Amino acid sequence: MHAKCLLLALLVPAASSGVDAAAQVAAVGPRVGSPLPAWTRGELDIHHINTGRGEAQLLIMPDGTSLLVDTSGKTVEKPPFSLPTRPDASRPPGEWVARYVQRVLPAGAAQIDYALITHFHGDHMGAIVEDSPHSEIGPYRRSGITEIADLIPVARVIDRDWPDYDYPRRIENPTMDNYRRFLAWQVANRGLTVQRFLPGRRDQLVPVHAADAYPQFSIRNIAANGVVWDGTENGTRHVFPPLEDLAPDDHPIENNLSIAFKVSYGRFDYFTGGDLSSHDEETTFGQEAWKDIETPVARATGPVDAMKANHHGSWDANSTAFLGTLRPRVIVVGSRAEGHPAVNTYRRMTSKGIWNGPRDIFVTNVSEATAKTTYGVEHAASTQGHVVIRVAEGGESYRVYVLDDADEERRIKAVFGPYDSD
Ligand SMILES: [Zn+2]
Repeated sequence: MHAKCLLLALLVPAASSGVDAAAQVAAVGPRVGSPLPAWTRGELDIHHINTGRGEAQLLIMPDGTSLLVDTSGKTVEKPPFSLPTRPDASRPPGEWVARYVQRVLPAGAAQIDYALITHFHGDHMGAIVEDSPHSEIGPYRRSGITEIADLIPVARVIDRDWPDYDYPRRIENPTMDNYRRFLAWQVANRGLTVQRFLPGRRDQLVPVHAADAYPQFSIRNIAANGVVWDGTENGTRHVFPPLEDLAPDDHPIENNLSIAFKVSYGRFDYFTGGDLSSHDEETTFGQEAWKDIETPVARATGPVDAMKANHHGSWDANSTAFLGTLRPRVIVVGSRAEGHPAVNTYRRMTSKGIWNGPRDIFVTNVSEATAKTTYGVEHAASTQGHVVIRVAEGGESYRVYVLDDADEERRIKAVFGPYDSD
């Protein structure tokens, strides 16, 4: 046994053993049990913040620009399928995310530079539910994005359908009505900028603090609303048929309208795409080809080093074609309910038949029920905690940190890597 591996065996708890774990404990540097060291200039951090109740990722770009992707949040649904709030139920999920963000933003940062909502579901933006409190500053209620923006100023909000919110049809519900009120008030009173995500572009999600300092860093907008980058400089194509050709019941589903983008830093590439899926729940077999949005998105994206699993690792997402094209070394599953990740999806993620080569899978929560039904998931690289991908300056290598989500100390449970970027 290599000395490093021996050290690993001694220090990393057995539960952290991964599928093809590249876990090591560095001779110098962050140690298991100590808090994650602060981001430093030149590094790219990708935090997958676990509240148990949805997805929230925080990217800190090499120049310190912050990009919050989704906010986690309360959902309107039946409790038995949801997981408990982490660290505990004393605060709503959006507030936990805000507190996490406050603690990891670069020193001196007074705002979130970009907040991006991948699609309009409560587990990504925060639903307005019966007990959602009123804002203390504006004429709207607090949940998810509206809660976070009350606690930390947000400079820009980017979503898939500003300013119309009518594709494929106008969404009228308490959450969207509240969101529109929130945006209007913040634009008028707080100088908020709101933008619609522009698929195909590479000049929308840009560093704002030292734009020219890291030319190896960029974000390519891949897809939203079924419009997918075509591989040319700013070109796109429409995957979904024109709405007039579809019966209203057959309109694209909200998940498949999700925003997707690719982050590149030198040789390092990372994909994130909300709740994109391959299968329509109503017509899984024999469905129209356009309902599989994952395949064109995968073609536009190409191979990556790391990805967030689509749709929380649900049964209908992360298809063979998708995974076989992205061929990730690291997969992060942001689970929020029983059945995340699903047994069929986990098998695809671990299948060497779909793509050869090692891979480590990090799941933010695995419930007892899921552990019994998703065979093998107990051997995932991680089954509980925040997952932070920290890319070294220039993008040549990266590490993955699993952080304890039982409190707000962000203590390191396990360290994986360094991985070489491909
Ligand atoms: Zn979701």
